[in-house]
Amino acid sequence: MTDMRDILRAASLLAGHIPPTPMWSYPVLNSVAGAELWVKHENTQPIGAFKVRGGITLLAALPDRDRGVVAYSTGNHAQSIAFGARLFGVPCAIVMPENPNPSKVAAVEALGATVVVGGATMVEAAGAARAEADRLGRRLISPADEPEIIAGVGTLYLEILRAQPDLDAIVVPVGSGTGAAAACLVARALAPGCQVIGVQSSAAPAAHDSWRLGEMVLRPMKTRVDGLATGSAYALPQAVMRELLTDFLLVTDDEIRDAQRLLLTHAHTLAEGAGAAALAAVLARREEFAGRKVAIVVSGGNAGPAELAAIFQESGA
Ligand SMILES: *Cc1c(COP(=O)(O)O)cnc(C)c1O
Repeated sequence: MTDMRDILRAASLLAGHIPPTPMWSYPVLNSVAGAELWVKHENTQPIGAFKVRGGITLLAALPDRDRGVVAYSTGNHAQSIAFGARLFGVPCAIVMPENPNPSKVAAVEALGATVVVGGATMVEAAGAARAEADRLGRRLISPADEPEIIAGVGTLYLEILRAQPDLDAIVVPVGSGTGAAAACLVARALAPGCQVIGVQSSAAPAAHDSWRLGEMVLRPMKTRVDGLATGSAYALPQAVMRELLTDFLLVTDDEIRDAQRLLLTHAHTLAEGAGAAALAAVLARREEFAGRKVAIVVSGGNAGPAELAAIFQESGA
């Protein structure tokens, strides 16, 4: 299990590769929310998302990495692993389900990884990735059941709590749960009074429902929000969250879109849907957060053309 020492070690490693990301509080946003919000800008990372912290940390520590790695993802996890692999000269293949989004293929290929198309769904792509890893004799990387990924992601929460040690809460968007689990570990060590609250889309609640039920369940995945779209729970982050997470909220995809618009106008920043989920949760539970000092993680900014068009369309029409 990842602990604080692993996270501190990851922080020294990452200091040589990526600078800390900014975190600002915006008065207009605060007055809209009725709380003192601190916006952590992980959308300013070189791949546009926090996951790069985990990718670099995993690849740096991987024994026998010269034989190469295989990962499966259409999104930010793919870019994170490709980024880490390029940094350490490790051969990298990314498996994506059929008909992948060309801009996502281009992003991964630009980082020097090979894209392999396999499977009709993400579940089938995982199987194809396992076969590809066996065929090439490479290490298969899990999206979440990797202690080094949680250690790397934990550096984000180290930065938050070092900058603002007296936060009442940190709100974290959840897909697989590596971010929320890492936040729990850091808060326990540095700020035991700080609550860690997860957020998922109500249209893909597998991690949320698994946490509430105390057992791993599958759920339909109907959200349009990429970073939060997982149909199953992951054992490692669930184990940490079960012990340490304060609460887990659900928001709708429309609430997330409204929050994306607010971040654009009031925090001068482009959040992809997942990156706006924390703000959406604070606004949906206004009474609960009123007057409190809360960090919200803008986990990423990789909004594609269709998503951008929808953000700019008038709301409430
Ligand atoms: C992956 C991702 C998430 C979810 O993170 P997990 O660690 O999988 O829970 C949230 N936001 C963005 C932008 C992501 O890429």
